[in-house]
Amino acid sequence: MKKRIAARILAYSGLGRLSAGLAPPGGILVLNYHRIGDGGASPYDRELWSADAEAFDAQMAMLARDCDVISPADIDTVAGRKGRHVLVTFDDGYLDNYEVAYPILRRHGLPATFFIATGFIDRPRLPWWDEIAWRIRTTTATHLDLRPWLPEPLEPGRGHDAAIGAILRAYKSLPIAESERMLERLRGETGLETPARIDGMWMDWNHIREMADGGMTIGGHTNDHPVLSRLPVERQREEIETCAARIREETGRPMEYFAYPVGSPWAFDDDTVACLEAVGVRRAFSYYGGHAHPGSPRFDTPRMAMERYIELPDLAAMLWAPRLFCRPDPA
Ligand SMILES: [Zn+2]
Repeated sequence: MKKRIAARILAYSGLGRLSAGLAPPGGILVLNYHRIGDGGASPYDRELWSADAEAFDAQMAMLARDCDVISPADIDTVAGRKGRHVLVTFDDGYLDNYEVAYPILRRHGLPATFFIATGFIDRPRLPWWDEIAWRIRTTTATHLDLRPWLPEPLEPGRGHDAAIGAILRAYKSLPIAESERMLERLRGETGLETPARIDGMWMDWNHIREMADGGMTIGGHTNDHPVLSRLPVERQREEIETCAARIREETGRPMEYFAYPVGSPWAFDDDTVACLEAVGVRRAFSYYGGHAHPGSPRFDTPRMAMERYIELPDLAAMLWAPRLFCRPDPA
């Protein structure tokens, strides 16, 4: 809260522009979005909406006016140069990226990078986070027993968001077999049949090819969006190789950039990096805050989360004083 008030004072007082000199030379602010639009009434994971169309448009206008918006291939070139360099990225591959964000990016003449989980493009279905949210919001069950993974039975009637948050946290922290077992139990407890196919949620390869031809960068985000560090190395390799192969087959371009699913420091490990290097990935992006600089590790390039509550003065503060406003999340 203190940070946000400081951001507003900084932005409205004009001190922001003066403080541009505080930015470390050659730093790069990497912004990460998921979905663009209004998800306020969605049965799915509402945390995924990073901005509505109007807010996103205003943010891109600010970037176009005040910054140098680059592509991942430019990072090594601009590293060390003075200036406000920004990279705009999207994770997962939701359809609104193409329908809402892409036209706005084009109008402002800005490049962006889209990290795609190829399995959802090939076989459109609910990802685990949206399925968990949908089950909690839709079920008529009053008690959900997810012991031993959660200490007490959940009561969805007492608040959907709290129940969804608790299950998502547990899912991310468990070894893959356990998280799958917990999701299977949730399916039984909520008594809702899993939809075999979901239309209108994901982009298709025509959308992705059109964006690649339009100057956007297409990066990888695995095939099935698991937390990679929770998988044995053979399954990590399979996830990464399948993703790289599908991107190459469908776009004719290699997968040179990658974003780790979930992106926390514990969500990837040395095996993950070795698998990425083996398929020719040049740089990979994490997701726990921070400002990228020439010394940032190539396979742990920091990104800042864009969330609905981030308003223009907050973004301005991130641009003008990254050392204050783009700190990594506390571990
Ligand atoms: Zn993701």
